[in-house]
Amino acid sequence: MVFFISDQFGHDPFLVLISCLLSLRTKDQVTLPASLRLFERARTPAKILTISLAELEKIVYPVGFYRKKARLLHAVCQNLLDRFDGAVPSTIEELLSIKGVGRKTANLVLGEGFGIPAICVDTHVHRVANRLGLVNTKTVDQTEQALKEIIPEKDWININRWLVVWGQQICVPISPFCSRCPLAGVCKKRGVVKNR
Ligand code: SF4
Repeated sequence: MVFFISDQFGHDPFLVLISCLLSLRTKDQVTLPASLRLFERARTPAKILTISLAELEKIVYPVGFYRKKARLLHAVCQNLLDRFDGAVPSTIEELLSIKGVGRKTANLVLGEGFGIPAICVDTHVHRVANRLGLVNTKTVDQTEQALKEIIPEKDWININRWLVVWGQQICVPISPFCSRCPLAGVCKKRGVVKNR
């Protein structure tokens, strides 16, 4: 979903950041229209802060936790204005210092927004990488580190695009479609108890 935003609006770190925050625990089909509605109105921290909280809630509805997320967007925009002159910072440390920004979001902003090599590990990347046998890890943070050791840096940004789509369409969480997966011959199917 965030990739559609960067394809549509260019690699704008602020839009990547905001759409990633909106996407947390929400399906792409819901997040994308909500992000587009918001970006039609405002594409900078200062402009988003001119939208009242009540109106922002209406714009992003029905993303999950829309009230909480509207407050988060306001807080993040204020933080960017107060501490970074309204710009999105380009280091993982600075990004993680913004309340509400986690490692997954920070890495996506670095990669998709700035073109800085970073591996964004979400639940799809974590699951697929483990099933394939690329890594053997328990947490997304461990997966990020393990993938960095085996994937060439030039592919760090793309690995998220590849594995997220794979995880949404083929290697789905419950009962993956192994019978039509081109990687079935090399996949270790680690942890797969049932497949189609
Ligand atoms: S073979 Fe099955 S478990 Fe392995 S990547 Fe393909 S869909 Fe996932």
